[in-house]
Amino acid sequence: MNANKPKILVLGAGYAGMMTTKRLSQQLRPDEADITLVNKHNYHYLTTWLHEVAAGTATPNSSRVMISDVINTKRVQLHFDSVVKINKDEKRVLLENGELSYDYLVIALGFETATFGIPGIKEHALKIENINSSRHIRDHIEFQFARYSSGAEKSEDALTILVGGAGFTGIEFVGELAKRVPELCIEYNIEREKVRIINVEAAPAILPGFEDDLVEYAQKSLEERGIEFRIGAKIQECTEEGFIIGDDHEVIKAGTVVWTGGVQASPVVKDSGFELVKGKVNVDHDLRVPGHDHIFIIGDCSWVMDKENDRPYPANAQSAIQEAETCASNVKALLRNEELQDFAFDYKGTVASLGGSDAMGTILDDKKLYGIKAKAMKNIIDDRYLYLVGGPKLVLKKGKVKLT
Ligand code: NAD
Repeated sequence: MNANKPKILVLGAGYAGMMTTKRLSQQLRPDEADITLVNKHNYHYLTTWLHEVAAGTATPNSSRVMISDVINTKRVQLHFDSVVKINKDEKRVLLENGELSYDYLVIALGFETATFGIPGIKEHALKIENINSSRHIRDHIEFQFARYSSGAEKSEDALTILVGGAGFTGIEFVGELAKRVPELCIEYNIEREKVRIINVEAAPAILPGFEDDLVEYAQKSLEERGIEFRIGAKIQECTEEGFIIGDDHEVIKAGTVVWTGGVQASPVVKDSGFELVKGKVNVDHDLRVPGHDHIFIIGDCSWVMDKENDRPYPANAQSAIQEAETCASNVKALLRNEELQDFAFDYKGTVASLGGSDAMGTILDDKKLYGIKAKAMKNIIDDRYLYLVGGPKLVLKKGKVKLT
């Protein structure tokens, strides 16, 4: 590395960090800047597929991509370590095993699960946060089935799977469970009726943000496949046994308890002294942190406000990828003393998988899709991302759309 060349440091290889790094490596000449990508693991994982890993309908390997397979390592230095803290005044990043300095910093460290201070969630509930925590859920469910079928566990409560929160993650997860549980029942010779899958939601309806007819479709489809909903029921506490819900503190016992109640920015952001609003940093329209001209925060670590209605754009993979395009182009603009552009979200629709061949959502001009057509669209959306990050080779290797 040339000591005088500007250093760009990208923290985190999720959707936002990967795409920013990829675009920077394509758009900047080697003599303009050194680019370093820091990530905890040597792989990138597809966060939007984690519910499948957790349910056991996809393998961990199918949901991850080696970073060196898709990032040009001749142009980008890969640094595998955990970020501990950012020292903004000294422009340095403290890692578990060292330190790095920067001139331009992109923080794309993703989310951690928010517990909202609910007692016992941190200690007793499993979370769909990354490949390892999702694999833990898959193995835990199977362990409960094995204990019951071997006679080591007598109570049918051990077979109950309790999911807290019916947002995108909770619903996509129970949809996969509706597919996986019958397979497990056959494998362990357990009657399907003995296994309860219960999804608890505090709001008056599941899937906040989706239109009523889509919500109705999703709920009906899932109920028909054996999912029980407890709607308008706030989880007050999580214990070793299960959830305590509602004003009357009803106890629901379960062998597997999974919390999908919401997310917030990686703890590194708070630990580094950035101001948080509802768990994330409010960034300027050009994606920089107010008062820190050389620091961008994107993806699940920040809120980007929509100028039209002064509300944040939705937090999902689609916006993270689009933010990455603007972020890379703004880092380039800073380096070249050009004008920065404001982020504008180009909404292409949202589709939620309901397990198996079912899904629902909207695309483009709010056209609604249901069932197999929606599922086909969901697979196309997933494969489009694979194409963006790794080209046709990655689509052929990991893609969901079957060519035969
Ligand atoms: P979420 O915030 O969207 O949903 C959490 C749900 O938990 C809400 O419905 C909330 O009412 C409920 N909840 C919170 N506290 C509760 C309590 N005490 N008792 C009962 N229910 C409670 O969280 P998520 O589903 O993890 O999603 C996080 C973000 O990621 C969202 O912005 C979501 O849109 C996005 N996401 C997108 C995709 C995708 O696009 N494929 C997939 C997953 C998540």
